[in-house]
Amino acid sequence: MTHSLTELPAVAGPVFRPGDAGYDEEVTGFQTAYTHRPALVVGALHAEDVRAAVEYAARHGLPIAVQATGHGLSVAAAEGVLISTRRMRDIAVDPLARTARVGVGAGVQAQGQIAAAAEYGLAPLNGSSPTVGVIGYHLGGGLGILARTFGYAADHVRAIDLVTADGRLRHLTPDDELFGAVLGTGGNFGVVTAMELDLLPITTVYGGQLTFDTRLVEPALEAWRLWTRDVPEEMTSAITMMTMPDIPVIPEPLRGRYIATINIAYTGPERDGERLVAPLRGIGERLADTVRTMSYRETDTIYSDPPFPHAYSATNALLSDLTSDVTQALLDVVGADSPVPVVAGFRHLGGALRRPGPADAAIDHRAAEYLARFITAPESGGTAVRDRHDLIAETLSPWTIGHSLNFLYGAGDWADESQTRIGYTQQTYGHLATMKANLDPANLFRYNRNIRPSS
Ligand SMILES: Cc1cc2nc3c(=O)[nH]c(=O)nc-3n(C[C@H](O)[C@H](O)[C@H](O)COP(=O)(O)OP(=O)(O)OC[C@H]3O[C@@H](n4cnc5c(N)ncnc54)[C@H](O)[C@@H]3O)c2cc1C
Repeated sequence: MTHSLTELPAVAGPVFRPGDAGYDEEVTGFQTAYTHRPALVVGALHAEDVRAAVEYAARHGLPIAVQATGHGLSVAAAEGVLISTRRMRDIAVDPLARTARVGVGAGVQAQGQIAAAAEYGLAPLNGSSPTVGVIGYHLGGGLGILARTFGYAADHVRAIDLVTADGRLRHLTPDDELFGAVLGTGGNFGVVTAMELDLLPITTVYGGQLTFDTRLVEPALEAWRLWTRDVPEEMTSAITMMTMPDIPVIPEPLRGRYIATINIAYTGPERDGERLVAPLRGIGERLADTVRTMSYRETDTIYSDPPFPHAYSATNALLSDLTSDVTQALLDVVGADSPVPVVAGFRHLGGALRRPGPADAAIDHRAAEYLARFITAPESGGTAVRDRHDLIAETLSPWTIGHSLNFLYGAGDWADESQTRIGYTQQTYGHLATMKANLDPANLFRYNRNIRPSS
């Protein structure tokens, strides 16, 4: 759509058009494979800026994208208005509420929330990466490092401030039908300007990484698989298998090697944690063993996600079970000999993840026992990457019950509506599409895992 945009929205924050100084910096995010290139960017300072930007876009019939950090960029905007929330960094902890709470602005990252909560001996239900945006994470469900103990982070949201396509700023609580629909649908129903979230009285975690060299990758996967069968809900863990990049920032013993890393986070007493982890230590010699009692502030080391922006594509599968048939078939496809390097991993689900919270968030496939994740570099040229992901999906299909939209990364048909549908049951998708038709009939909020308004 061509639009002269001679009238600009009346906002307090900066506004950028293509070619303006600051435009490129403002649209750039964590995902570097592709970027939003809208006709206008509004660098919102507060909720009223967001409201004014949405009202402006609606008046001109312009689609709206939202970006906090760019970790979860799915469909990049080539037109319309991008609302950039990175300046909205307000955080207010209420340690005295019956359940301690934190109010966060739309631009807050997990590390800011963790630090603010830690001042009061509290912790949020954050995910593995400290630089992910708190709002985007919750809008996708929020699978945290303590997920099996406390469930999805979205099940612990207390209030949402949302600007809808009609330009209204609404304060939502769990009694509102829209409240649950917003949680799990990644920005389809409007722009969240703030959320109020539970905090938990946690100051330490028994956790860290156990890393095994090439010859122990298969035994480690098999031992972890069997071990997850009867660990308590207080234990959340994952395993990742990958060939480490052969670059100087990687420590010498790991550089260029095909390894397996088990990630541990246990919320019970240390002595129980040690007893529980002992069989994993028994797998054999570890290249690294960082599992210990650590302060909550240090828990970003449990996954050590890359902190620097880069290009990635990824698919995933929510699995009903993890049998040795699955792991064996999978290693044949994604192991060290794969023609396309794949970072392959499983997160152990179950526990509290099975139990929906009072808000009835739009999170399906709760019966899944494991989440399988596959990360690659994006396609460059041919179709080898896509073919590999297709082969992975085919291999896992007998055990696959859906996929997680928060762990799906890629442009084009990797982000089309059919992919969104797989994130939900048919019934949930139908219900959400009806709500979308009522609240955003023109589909202004379409640069996301889009739910099409039902006709
Ligand atoms: C390294 C890494 C580690 C991760 N670890 C985890 C994890 O452990 N658990 C987990 O569940 N997820 C995890 N994720 C996924 C992450 O939660 C999603 O990608 C999430 O969408 C990122 O939100 P963001 O705001 O940082 O990114 P953005 O790209 O800025 O936002 C992603 C999308 O969320 C929507 N959105 C963001 N803010 C708003 C808003 N204020 N209002 C309306 N819509 C909005 C938009 O549709 C936007 O396109 C991880 C991702 C990466 C890259």
